[in-house]
Amino acid sequence: MERFFGRVEGEKAYISPDKAHHLVRVLRAKKGDKVEIADTGELYLCEIKSLEPLELAVLESLYKPKPLPFTVVLAFALLKGGHDELVLQKGTELGVNEFAPYISSRTIVRLDQKDKEKRQVRFEKIVQSSCEQCKRIDIPKVDSILSFDKMTDMQFDHAFFAYEGLSHESFNLAAEAAKVKQGERVLLVIGPEGGFDEKEVTLATKKGLTPVSLGQRILRAETASIYMASVFSFLGESKE
Ligand code: SAH
Repeated sequence: MERFFGRVEGEKAYISPDKAHHLVRVLRAKKGDKVEIADTGELYLCEIKSLEPLELAVLESLYKPKPLPFTVVLAFALLKGGHDELVLQKGTELGVNEFAPYISSRTIVRLDQKDKEKRQVRFEKIVQSSCEQCKRIDIPKVDSILSFDKMTDMQFDHAFFAYEGLSHESFNLAAEAAKVKQGERVLLVIGPEGGFDEKEVTLATKKGLTPVSLGQRILRAETASIYMASVFSFLGESKE
């Protein structure tokens, strides 16, 4: 069944004109078809009463998937070739609650203020359509694009930064991640294509972020993000 983010008022549900167009013209929905509408953390089963204009009647409230038992904030550097968009899409599927895109010294993509704002709006759209696809109704937040320095000032109960410069003996993610408790806020930081520079590693360590290794192979930045999000998704689902 198709699912859309929209607004529910009493017995009726509303979706934006572009979504209505998608439903009626692209998906060729018919009168009497059912759709799911998510509105501020609630999910409703609705029926199409008329097509033009689109009228949706609310039939009943539906079961909604539970979010992870802790808050996962995924901080990733802007990446070339749309790879950052992949991070947002996969992170959303894996339960990430907040995305913190940032620019560090080795980030290749450079943007002025206006482009940063545009990019954030695009990121929000990607997250929303990923939520629709993976049937998630708590939409992750996308923070504004910050510098590495500012991003590491964020609040957290635990913070891990993936650093490939650690020796294999310090493969410590499992032990560190096991310390995360229900309700806590976990910050996961992944570097850009070229990794972190030494100053950034020193700064992050000083601010209390724990360096973690993701194994003996060097992963691409987007793979490293998906790996970290998967680890915490697994832990969160196992805690239920
Ligand atoms: N500096 C490297 C590659 C960076 S990989 C080079 O250019 O050769 C991009 C990012 O993915 C890194 O900054 C790190 O956050 C993460 N990463 C990739 N492989 C990793 C590993 N084995 N352990 C920890 N982090 C890793």
